[in-house]
Amino acid sequence: MVTIKAPAKINLALDTLYKRDDNYHEVEMIMTTVDLADYITVTPRNDDKIVIQSNEFTIPLNEKNLAYQAAELFRKHFNIKQGVEIYIKKKIPVAAGLAGGSSNAAATLKALRELFKVDCTMDELAELGARLGSDIPFCVYGGTALATGRGEIIHPIPSPPKCWVILIKPRIGVSTKEIYEALNANEVQHLDIKGMLDCIELQDYQGICNRLGNSLESVTFERYPVVEEIKNKLIQFGADAVLMSGSGPTVFALVRKEYKLRRIINSINGCLREHEVYAVRLIG
Ligand code: ATP
Repeated sequence: MVTIKAPAKINLALDTLYKRDDNYHEVEMIMTTVDLADYITVTPRNDDKIVIQSNEFTIPLNEKNLAYQAAELFRKHFNIKQGVEIYIKKKIPVAAGLAGGSSNAAATLKALRELFKVDCTMDELAELGARLGSDIPFCVYGGTALATGRGEIIHPIPSPPKCWVILIKPRIGVSTKEIYEALNANEVQHLDIKGMLDCIELQDYQGICNRLGNSLESVTFERYPVVEEIKNKLIQFGADAVLMSGSGPTVFALVRKEYKLRRIINSINGCLREHEVYAVRLIG
């Protein structure tokens, strides 16, 4: 039996450059890891089946689950016949813009590598993951990275300075596909990705806060106004910087000082309590 932690990610920057001939958007994203995690436990079975179990009943417990697909691909690639049970202990909200499913798939690949003692590199796991979803290679490596291509080409970068991350997820799920389809590539205001990379390198927290940006925000805001309301409230409460993660609907706030964190959490408890709220550390 092998258990692997599957942490969530946030996007400090997400820029869409243009729509490609294969219909994917060419992106530049700066992704980092937060300490809100699922746990994937893989146990060998006496037959050839892949069985998914979870404490969370809103995710598919069948071949539609990304962890199932990762296990199937891994077994096929390495010619493994033995079945496995995959238990997903879920804490990351689903369809939230936090890459929960992708992180589960990445952790499943790592768990199977360990369980079956397969001699393969992280790059090979990332390449397998990329066949299932663009965010999976980042989740294989973890840490902090610039992701290019359709998001699957990973360039590791240093961790940003440590800080608190408040995550607020309204009780709606947003489909990434829906948001990308609604995006008008000609209306995008491009981000200063190079400047953000420099700030991370220099550990310039304020510079990072000033450069947070997400091309998908306005699309999601238009369709789901509650997401913009949450962002505005967090700014009003005095967070250092606030941004929607991925295609939403989760909004995150960066906060460096603990007294400020407490003050913001008090304000959230007063008027945003109908949403899911997490205060976690940035661990990228
Ligand atoms: P991303 O940020 O990569 O776009 P997300 O956080 O927005 O991902 P997920 O939580 O990965 O979204 O869920 C997206 C969809 O994938 C959901 O509708 C869910 O039913 C399906 N799904 C499949 N497998 C999983 C899994 N292991 N965990 C969560 N969702 C899963």
